[in-house]
Amino acid sequence: MAILPPMRPESLFPLFAAISTLKGVGPRVAPLVEKLAGPIVRDVLFTSPQSLIRRTATTAALAQDGQVATFVVTIDAHLPPQRSGQPWRIRGWDETGFVTLVWFKGHGPHLERQHPVGSHRAVSGKVERFGSEIQVAHPDYMLEAERIDEIPPIEPVYPATAGLPSRTFRKFAQEALSRAQPLPEWQDAAWMAREGLPPWREAFERLHGPEGEIDLSPMSAARRRLAYDELLAHQLALAQRKAGKRAQPGPRIVSGPLAEAAEKALPFRLTGAQVRALSEVRGDLAHGERMSRLLQGDVGSGKTVVAMLAMADAAGAGFQSALMAPTEILARQHYETLAPPLEAQGLAVVLLTGRDKGAARAAKLQKLADGSAAVAVGTHALFQDDVAFQSLALTIIDEQHRFGVNERRRLQEKGPKDAEWGVHLLAMSATPIPRTLELTVFGDLDVSRIDEKPPGRTPVATRAAPTPRVPEIVDRLRAAIEGGAQAFWICPLVSESEKVDLRAAEDRAADLRKILGPRVGLVHGQMPAAEKDAVMQAFVDGEVGVLVATTVVEVGVNVPNASIMVIEHADRFGLAQLHQLRGRVGRGMRESSCVLLYDPPLSEVAQQRLDILRRSDDGFEIAEKDLELRGGGDPLGLKQSGFPAYRLADPVAHRDLIAVAADDARLILARDPDLSSPRGEAVRTLQALFDWKPASGLNDAG
Ligand code: ADP
Ligand code: MG
Repeated sequence: MAILPPMRPESLFPLFAAISTLKGVGPRVAPLVEKLAGPIVRDVLFTSPQSLIRRTATTAALAQDGQVATFVVTIDAHLPPQRSGQPWRIRGWDETGFVTLVWFKGHGPHLERQHPVGSHRAVSGKVERFGSEIQVAHPDYMLEAERIDEIPPIEPVYPATAGLPSRTFRKFAQEALSRAQPLPEWQDAAWMAREGLPPWREAFERLHGPEGEIDLSPMSAARRRLAYDELLAHQLALAQRKAGKRAQPGPRIVSGPLAEAAEKALPFRLTGAQVRALSEVRGDLAHGERMSRLLQGDVGSGKTVVAMLAMADAAGAGFQSALMAPTEILARQHYETLAPPLEAQGLAVVLLTGRDKGAARAAKLQKLADGSAAVAVGTHALFQDDVAFQSLALTIIDEQHRFGVNERRRLQEKGPKDAEWGVHLLAMSATPIPRTLELTVFGDLDVSRIDEKPPGRTPVATRAAPTPRVPEIVDRLRAAIEGGAQAFWICPLVSESEKVDLRAAEDRAADLRKILGPRVGLVHGQMPAAEKDAVMQAFVDGEVGVLVATTVVEVGVNVPNASIMVIEHADRFGLAQLHQLRGRVGRGMRESSCVLLYDPPLSEVAQQRLDILRRSDDGFEIAEKDLELRGGGDPLGLKQSGFPAYRLADPVAHRDLIAVAADDARLILARDPDLSSPRGEAVRTLQALFDWKPASGLNDAG
């Protein structure tokens, strides 16, 4: 099925006009509106108010301090400032008393012309009461009394930006609303009725003309309706892309004796979760369509073995496969895991990284080009132009989010030129995306989860400690190291300047050396690869007892003897990331511990977050809780993982709608793949309205 961008129906033209077509949006204001909303009228329509102001019609006698109130007054006197710095005052009165209106700087005699003594004015603003005196400074509205209806009793407040007051934006929003025509209904009528959801146009009327606080809640019917529209549009785009990928043929790979023998030779048995994931992968490989699957599993859940057996399947069927990892250290570790069981089956495995040079590199490339090596493991080096494969049929991308779209694609494109099929893709990720959000991030992929850890892991005792207690912690660390234990000490990148962070890590390493002696190593991102590898290797070999590291990059390794993890500035990390770091210990037989250092005082939310980590060891659960606790924003760094920037949907508040929208999208496309029925046509309007640009994440890969 060809995926063409939906044609924009004429009914949407007014909404896709530039914001400068809105009354009052001139060259000065346009950039501000664009910054706040976006470049077209639709974007103004899509901007939600964040709160509201209620204006109570009242009198001088009844007005209360702090209230936002509307009065009808007769202008009694103008009181110009007596000295510079004093305000301009207008005294007005109604039957019950006086109301003084006050203007500071920049206002003067023109007020006298606009509001002459004796004129009747409707005035609205925030009331300040000093005893019996009522004062309103800089009224929000001051109109001829007959125009009082123009003062809204309930006024939505939009996010303001310097130079663009909320009230000005409200006018633009009202005008954008007037450009929105009713559109053919794309939602299922029965479902809408059951959920009590209003039609599209009405939902926007409610959004921009709230009748009470309830209308601002994400749970209001109007908001849910609009959120659902956005989620459905996005799920449709994902489902179409997925269907488009499916329609491409993939080489048929059926598991055989080779993989079976490799599995038998493993020193352990696969966990139930690994077996499930593997059979899902095998289902795809044997199907004849191209696989686009994501393998999700916590750190240490055993993704590599699943990848290895899929590679054995490919080799057994006469195809090559390649596994790409983001760092040299990770690639090497994968190689060390993968190569022995595969080589035991007579397969040649090549490790290709940036460090390979000259004749040695040429020899490896030769093996990939002539097919004598069945399996390649490596880094970015794998997709360089001069790397060619004889029969690449499967690529596996570890830590997929660390690669750019084009990098993944370049490797994908190394399949045989004349083949009628595309290369299978298996992406792996240890970033625990909450189940509820999975569909929005990976909606165009099939997902397998490894939600069970291999047996024999000892739970990691986790506690938080304030930074001033470091000496105590170091004392205990010394005892542990003397007893043969090993530790990670993470000094994360926290400041704006990498240099400053680096110095913090260097200082820490120096301090630790003073107390613990020379068995303290330091790795950081600025080090030459060879030097980094040497330190890592010394840690793996046990020569280094404490490894001070700046980022996660350097610790993406498996060191079963490491049993202590100290993380500085833990309160500034995402929980998912802390959990991933913690996952580096607790892999061996030793009792493991994780110390989360924070700079006191700890905020209540920070306290709660660290508590979650102390109580749970399930990455998915942790991610879910973190999401709830932080509410909005981008708590998990989802944007980096290709998470869409929704404008009407709130991925937390509306998460119940995500799965419904995904099902709905599938159903719509199954019944009407070309969207040619009347509902299909309406659905195309919806898609055109949201106009989903391809996201910048994995969603684009392959
Ligand atoms: P990750 O999912 O983080 O990539 P790995 O694949 O690196 O995890 O596996 C972590 C460790 O667990 C490795 O040392 C691996 O050999 C081991 N392992 C994997 N599967 C099992 C299993 N079923 N039983 C015991 N150990 C396993
Ligand atoms: Mg891994």
